[in-house]
Amino acid sequence: MIPAEFDYLAPDSLEEALEALATGGEDARALAGGHSLLPLMKLRLAAPTLLVDLRRVPGLGGVARENGTVRIGAMSTHHEVSAAGLGLASTAAGTIADQQVRNCGTLGGTLAHGDPASDMPAVLMALEGTITAMAPGGASREIAATEFFKDYLETALAQHELITEIRFPATEGWGYGYEKFNRRQEDWALVAVSALVRQEGGVCSDVRIGLTHMANTPLRATAVEDALRGQPLSPENIAAAARHAADGTSPPADLNASQEYKRHLATVLTQRALTQASR
Ligand SMILES: Cc1cc2nc3c(=O)[nH]c(=O)nc-3n(C[C@H](O)[C@H](O)[C@H](O)COP(=O)(O)OP(=O)(O)OC[C@H]3O[C@@H](n4cnc5c(N)ncnc54)[C@H](O)[C@@H]3O)c2cc1C
Repeated sequence: MIPAEFDYLAPDSLEEALEALATGGEDARALAGGHSLLPLMKLRLAAPTLLVDLRRVPGLGGVARENGTVRIGAMSTHHEVSAAGLGLASTAAGTIADQQVRNCGTLGGTLAHGDPASDMPAVLMALEGTITAMAPGGASREIAATEFFKDYLETALAQHELITEIRFPATEGWGYGYEKFNRRQEDWALVAVSALVRQEGGVCSDVRIGLTHMANTPLRATAVEDALRGQPLSPENIAAAARHAADGTSPPADLNASQEYKRHLATVLTQRALTQASR
């Protein structure tokens, strides 16, 4: 399909990009890797009147570690994140689609898109990360990942706000596991589970679980976390905690998986991800 007609700008600075979005009307949209927006435009499910391409904007790339915090520029590609040696975030980014998609798709783009089937939103929730957004005029704010995803394809971003960077505390001392189930290699997750475990003397001192595609937004599996925190990390305790994985979830059913099947997947994948993270 051919998209509806649109104007196109490729500004050289963040200020220009924000200004172009602000003056471009309510149907002006940022363009990052284009791997979610362009398919929607081709299907005519989105018809922006102006695309503001962020690829020439300086300062939106790069991965850096500063004082115990990891900072990732919004235009960093999935490939760059996967190659950055960031444990859970890198492992999950490496499971996104194929190399071609990973070379173009960006972390900022996948977060702004807000698809509950995407890998990185739940990972960022488990990492207790934040998203920095800048509005036209230059005002910047930091939004906790737990507050960012509001509903299906709906985020806390205000109209024409741009994500500039993503931050999360470094995870030295934490074990991690990432389990993704899809019907075909390189597809979106039917369900995926991110696990982070901290242990002292074989006892779980802290744990965080992120769930992908178990609701209209990514979720934290707090019932699993509460069941395991303070317990010895035995296979039995991990299995018992994982049985809470689907508590309070309302997974969207589709042709590939019923709600019941997704709840089963969540339990199995949580047990596996926790086992990996506890090694
Ligand atoms: C074949 C295929 C398979 C895929 N498989 C997976 C998968 O397994 N797992 C997965 O997680 N994803 C998957 N994806 C999606 C991929 O990860 C996309 O790259 C991602 O969802 C969007 O990133 P993008 O940079 O391409 O954003 P774009 O498509 O350019 O933009 C997406 C949306 O975000 C907005 N936006 C972009 N950047 C910003 C910013 N900095 N600030 C504010 N708004 C912004 C745009 O205006 C648009 O609304 C797949 C895509 C394809 C085509």
